[in-house]
Parts: sequence; C-alpha cells; structure tokens
Amino acid sequence: MSKSSSSQVITCKAAICWGIGEPLKVEEIQVEPPKSFEIRVKMLLASLCHTDILCTKGFPAPLFPRVLGHEGVG
Ligand SMILES: [Zn+2]
Repeated sequence: MSKSSSSQVITCKAAICWGIGEPLKVEEIQVEPPKSFEIRVKMLLASLCHTDILCTKGFPAPLFPRVLGHEGVG
C-alpha cells in the first residue's frame, strides 16, 4: 500500500514575490504535510487578486517571500 500524498512533503509551482518592487517569479516550492487542523487540496488554477497586488507593495505588512494566488480552484 502506498503512502498517502497527504502525509508527504510535496513540490509545487508557486508565484512568489521576494520583495517590494521585485518581479514575480514562478518557482518550485516544498510544501509540508497538512497539520491536524488543515487539509490538502489539489489546486487546478489560481488567480492574482487586488489583495495579492497590495501584498506585493508591502500591505498590510512587508512579509517576504510571499506566495500569491490565494483565490484558486481545486
Ligand atoms: Zn483575494
């Protein structure tokens, strides 16, 4: 029996903002298995919304690197 992917670290593509004024980069990231209060959803599509654009400008807090695209379909 194979190990469930929900208990493994997975590699995903992500649109990452590394800082204010930096161009977005699509890179591969490692995602930890979900915690007991989380679920893993296979994302099919994601878009960048107005909030994502504000985050690239450091609002509400300049937290970088930041993975954008929180509005998705999975
Ligand atoms: Zn949004």
